[in-house]
Amino acid sequence: MNGFAYVRPGSVQEAVEAHATHPGAHYLAGGTNLVDLLKLGVERPTALIDVGRLPLDRIEDLPDGSLRVGATVRNSDLAADPRVRDRYPVLSQALLSGASGQLRNAATTGGNLLQRTRCPYFQDLDKPCNKREPGTGCAARDGVHRDHAVLGHSDSCIATHPSDMAVALAALDAQIELQGPDGGRRVPVADFYRLPGEHPERDTWIRPGELITAVLLPAATAGVPSAYRKARDRASYAFALASVAVVLRVADGVVDQVGVAFGGLAHRPWRARHTELALLGAPAGPDAFEGAVALELAHAEPLRDNAYKVPLARNRALDVLNRLAPTPAVA
Ligand code: SF4
Repeated sequence: MNGFAYVRPGSVQEAVEAHATHPGAHYLAGGTNLVDLLKLGVERPTALIDVGRLPLDRIEDLPDGSLRVGATVRNSDLAADPRVRDRYPVLSQALLSGASGQLRNAATTGGNLLQRTRCPYFQDLDKPCNKREPGTGCAARDGVHRDHAVLGHSDSCIATHPSDMAVALAALDAQIELQGPDGGRRVPVADFYRLPGEHPERDTWIRPGELITAVLLPAATAGVPSAYRKARDRASYAFALASVAVVLRVADGVVDQVGVAFGGLAHRPWRARHTELALLGAPAGPDAFEGAVALELAHAEPLRDNAYKVPLARNRALDVLNRLAPTPAVA
């Protein structure tokens, strides 16, 4: 492991200033992904700005009915919060489907959003990887890529984003609150992540020195029926092969609110806009769901060894949509 400076700021402002005075610095919170990458030599920061003790660990009700989740709220605390379980069950379920109990106790909301891909070639310094070292190539494309992307990938990179939580947040229309050298801003989770294109080394649209300070769960999706479903190689402690988060409200047999996002299929949580557009205002039911999901997955471009992900994702999505839709009353 390379040497680095360690800074423990007393406020968000101090953290941002410390980052600015240490070019090449990283923010550190739970460390559940970053410390692994430091040990492997994948990440080599000049300094770690430890934000883990900043007062960002509260979940607050805001006057407009939204819920503000501080960036250092632990994944286990967020999953267990009664307001989250009651109003945003998809988020609680997604969190509990990720990692292990010990990791969820340490991992933070902000860190979860910024975790790096688990593509094995990214973590292997002996293999070419455009994400780790731009311009070196992509070992996964002709290598082992059963777990890799089927949507939105590029010649440069076929990695997937590993977070379950981010998939639920995308479907919920959540926003990320950021603080940086040029002030604060908010970005929808669905717009925060990049597709790989020619620059897979950049996972997100975060600007240099910006710190995630909170996630905002909107009032508009509070209490709307929602659920998360994940397919993985074993029952726990495994990343998604394919997952889906669905937010669905049906009134008088017609879909009047819908959010669908897939995980495990792309370089970012994949908001299924084609599916949503087809469903909004349509009569809710198996035929409509099947057609709408097919519209989205028609854009899939499976690789040599991962075509199985398309029916896997489709079946998970149909299962959740049908389960959330109210059963029509028998005449
Ligand atoms: Fe690297 Fe992306 Fe290729 Fe994996 S898929 S080896 S992360 S460039």
